[in-house]
Amino acid sequence: MELLRKYVVMFRQDMRQVMSKRCGQDELNNFLMLVGFVFIVLSMLTHRWIFTLLGAVFVVLSYLRVFSVKIEKRRKENEIYMRYLGGVVRKVHHYKLCVKMKLKTSRDPEFSYFVCSHCGQIIRVPKGKNKVSIRCPRCSETFIRKT
Ligand SMILES: [Zn+2]
Repeated sequence: MELLRKYVVMFRQDMRQVMSKRCGQDELNNFLMLVGFVFIVLSMLTHRWIFTLLGAVFVVLSYLRVFSVKIEKRRKENEIYMRYLGGVVRKVHHYKLCVKMKLKTSRDPEFSYFVCSHCGQIIRVPKGKNKVSIRCPRCSETFIRKT
């Protein structure tokens, strides 16, 4: 057991060292994986081999980018992607965070959680105060929410 743990630790250190010289995960890869996943789901639903192939292409492409050593090139690709689709990516991210905070609010009996629409800061407000004006501590944006 002890030996196994040692190997796991060694493997992790190796991986970290390898990955530090690689591109790693970025927004463009998230998008490529998502597209690949959508195609694979489509192929399962329609039984068309073309979707399987397309799905595989996107997944392989994203893995090639993750393990790419040409960091500078990959960074530039991601930059271009973010320039055109950055707004959408941020909106999706914001929306996901909002849903997460809604769930957190429903589980917490004392506090409501909100996401600042300007900077994304999470703000905690005591529950049961009805409509309150909330001021973001990070960017000073104010908005009115029901707690
Ligand atoms: Zn803010």
